[in-house]
Amino acid sequence: CGIVGIIGHEFKVAELIEGLKKLEYRGYDSAGIAATNGSQLIVTKSVGRVDSLKAVIEEEKVVRSGIAHTRWATHGTPNDTNAHPHTDCSGKIAVVHNGIIENYQELKTELIKRGHKFKSETDTEVISHLIEENFKGDLFQAVLDTLKILKGAFAIAVIHSDIPNVMIGARKGSPLVVGCNDKYCVLASDVTPIIKYTRDVIFLEDGDVVYIEGNKIKITDFSGNTLIRKHTHITWDE
Ligand code: GLU
Repeated sequence: CGIVGIIGHEFKVAELIEGLKKLEYRGYDSAGIAATNGSQLIVTKSVGRVDSLKAVIEEEKVVRSGIAHTRWATHGTPNDTNAHPHTDCSGKIAVVHNGIIENYQELKTELIKRGHKFKSETDTEVISHLIEENFKGDLFQAVLDTLKILKGAFAIAVIHSDIPNVMIGARKGSPLVVGCNDKYCVLASDVTPIIKYTRDVIFLEDGDVVYIEGNKIKITDFSGNTLIRKHTHITWDE
């Protein structure tokens, strides 16, 4: 299972597919992408190989930010609906997640009581609905408020179609790496999708949140306090 996110200047959806293919070795049962050019959120998912997703997605589409996922199902059968990304009720917020949200059942019950409609059987979908509830115009704050409620192990990436220059990632127990060049930032489960863009990366640590705006990043803890993380230069070849 793996995560890839790309943001910055415009790029083709094909870049996200290429990134996912680098993560195929990690194993998966389905794959999906959510991307935006600043107007609407485009979500495409497919059970099976990344090539099955490639066959149904518009690879030439130009977007400004996008998140992609290969899933190894823990909660809910492998099918198109349960494949990530997962969205909120407004259809503007998209989330990909590796790991398990241990308290998802109680969170889901509460969210349903408050009127949220769920589409999937996954533990992940609570995250998009919680971010929607916490969103008051500041996506970063909404993600921080949501992270405090989640129990379990996770790496996540989040986008909002009204804010195509912002992407947020966070990790607790699952790996996440970020690297930026003069045009793009790439967030991924390992360095393999990133080295095409840059060999200068940051391995996030447990409890880290990365706020990406264009090709600039800020790393904080779950309370929003800024952290300094060292850069690693990747010298090996693929
Ligand atoms: N628990 C999530 C699910 O079943 C994420 C699984 C993964 O890490 O791919 O959808």
